[in-house]
Order: sequence, then structure tokens, then C-alpha cells
Amino acid sequence: MSAKRDYYDVLGVSRSATPEEIKKAYRKIAIQYHPDKNPGNKEAEEKFKEAAEAYEVLSNPEKREQYDRFGHARPGNGGFGGGMNMEDIFSQFGDIFGGSNPFESFFGGGSTRRRARKGSNLRIKLKLTLEEIANGVEKKIKVNRLVRAEGVTFKTCSTCQGTGQMKRVVNTMLGQMVSATTCPACNGSGQVIDRRPPGVDSSGLVSKEEVITVRIPPGVADGMQLSMTGKGNEAPGGGQPGDLLILVEEQEDKFLKRDGNNLIYDLYLNFADAALGTTVEVPSVGGKVKIKIEPGTQSGKILRLRGKGLRDVNGYETGDQLIHVNVWTPKKLTAEERAILEKLRQSPNFEPHPDSGDRSFFERMKEFFQ
Ligand SMILES: [Zn+2]
Repeated sequence: MSAKRDYYDVLGVSRSATPEEIKKAYRKIAIQYHPDKNPGNKEAEEKFKEAAEAYEVLSNPEKREQYDRFGHARPGNGGFGGGMNMEDIFSQFGDIFGGSNPFESFFGGGSTRRRARKGSNLRIKLKLTLEEIANGVEKKIKVNRLVRAEGVTFKTCSTCQGTGQMKRVVNTMLGQMVSATTCPACNGSGQVIDRRPPGVDSSGLVSKEEVITVRIPPGVADGMQLSMTGKGNEAPGGGQPGDLLILVEEQEDKFLKRDGNNLIYDLYLNFADAALGTTVEVPSVGGKVKIKIEPGTQSGKILRLRGKGLRDVNGYETGDQLIHVNVWTPKKLTAEERAILEKLRQSPNFEPHPDSGDRSFFERMKEFFQ
């Protein structure tokens, strides 16, 4: 695969460009390099596709944020730049040019690509527990999809007499020109609905509850968007269905905090256990794990359970579980306990004297962030 150009460079905008500036820049390039204007020109076609791909990412706030952070090598979803086919690019134009493809009107009817419209995307949020994120999960989700209704009858569109286009003679500086636009009454299909059963909308679609099985891979994170091709709303008239977009929401775990693929657990030890050593059970995503506490364990020590973190969503590596040791200092004491501690206070062993084995806070932090 060849190296990708920076998306901002492709569109010729700055990294702080507003959505409006991005849209404007893309519109200009799309018009310049449109295949209808450059027939048989491979270079123009490449530029056209490159711009469409850049726009597809930079016009989506989530994708743009990820691109800004990770560049083309976005984690998950196999990175950016899978390339777009012409069908995708043209379906994007609705957004850019406000409803209809301008090339239909620029070039008259001759070069028009008659494309079935794509169904709209469905968006859902999916709450996942840490356990589900760690192991991956299969969920059955109820969604209300728009599907093509049964029992709908069609008739020829009276607005355009079934041609799907509206021709208009326009007086310009260059003389009279015929401009053709998509018929607004039938959206270019040439047919309109004659009769429809109750509940069916004007495009012949009806809302239907469906149960969809979604497979979530291990290691997804809050804010990631997964997409299931063709599981969105069906298209009026026979185009491809849209996609189902699933936004991941991570539920906070009671015990384990997430830091990338690592999991952090705060362990509280009583003073005697820290001094004498013990065995404790700590929660992990795979169930409880027994760990040994060495005699003389200092507060602030970080223990590492290798491979007990989360699998990277790309499957390359697995994080660790880090156990942060906190020695608990009693806040209430009985008279007897107080007497014992008063006595211990005098012992030279209770005098703090950190040696090379008891690293400073700074050293521990360095290890933590390595
Ligand atoms: Zn029509």
C-alpha cells in the first residue's frame, strides 16, 4: 500500500479548519476532479477519490478526533483509508450539495448516473461492562428499522411524467440552456406511491422492530463506533440498506479502573499485613486472583499482574493489571492498641530509613508510566 497523504493537505485546509471550511474545500475539489468532467483521466479520478476519503473522515467529528490523535493508523477498525468506491462517494454528495447531485444539473441528463438511493444509517448506543469488554460479547439488540412495506402500489409520477427529471429552460449570458434536475416528487424514480397501508411513510417504508445480533470484539473502548454494513434502514425503492452504527459506552467498574489496555486496582492493606506479609485476593476481569504480599511491603508499591489487563482491540497485545498498594493507617484505637503502638514507636525498626529497595514516589511513577 502506498503512503497516504495527510487528509488536511489533501483538502488544502489547516488543522483548525471549521466543518464549513472543510465542506467548502471538498466541494471545490469534487467539482474540479469529477469523473464526468474528466472522462478517462486516471489522475483526476485518483484525486477525486482521495478527496472523498479525506472528507469522509474530516467531516465526521469522531473520526476527525481519532485521525488527529492517531493519524492514518487509527486503533481498531483497521486504520483509516480503506478507500471508498464511487457509489459511496456519490451518496456523500447529498450532504455536500444539499439534496441533489449537482452534476445532474451541470451536465444535463446525458451523463447522469441513475443510482438507487442508499438507506439511512441507524445509530444506537451500547452500554458494556468491563467484563464484556475484556472477553468480547455477543448481544441481541432490539432496533426499530425502516423496512420496505408490503402492499404498497405505485403509479407513474405526474410531476415528471415518469422521466424522473425536471427540465427547465434557463436564460444565461451564453444564451438559453436546458437544465435538468431530479424530480422532487419522486426523487428521480419516476414513480410515486399510489396506495399505502396505514403506518407506511410516503417513501413506502414502515418501522419494524427487529432483533439484531451484534458481536463486540474484546478490547473496545468508550466512544468507539462499530459499524454493521447493511443493518440500517432499508432504502426507498430498492437501493442498498444503510448501516447500523454502534457507539460503545463503557460502564464504570466498581473496582477496576481502566488506563488504555491496563487495569488499575487500589489495594488497601492493614499495617500489620504490610509488615508481616500475607496473601490477599484481588478482583480481576478473569475472576479473583490470589497474590502474595511480601513482609515489609511499602505503601505506594505497584504490583504488576502481567497479561491480566485488556486485549488490544487489534489483537496485538494484552495489557497488565497494576495493583497499587495503600497501607491503611487506623483512625480509631482502643486504649490497649494505643499502648502497644506507643511501645512500638520506641523501636528502632519503626524509624523510617528507606534504602535502595524502597524507591521514591518519583521512581515508582516512572515505572508506572513506562
Ligand atoms: Zn417525478
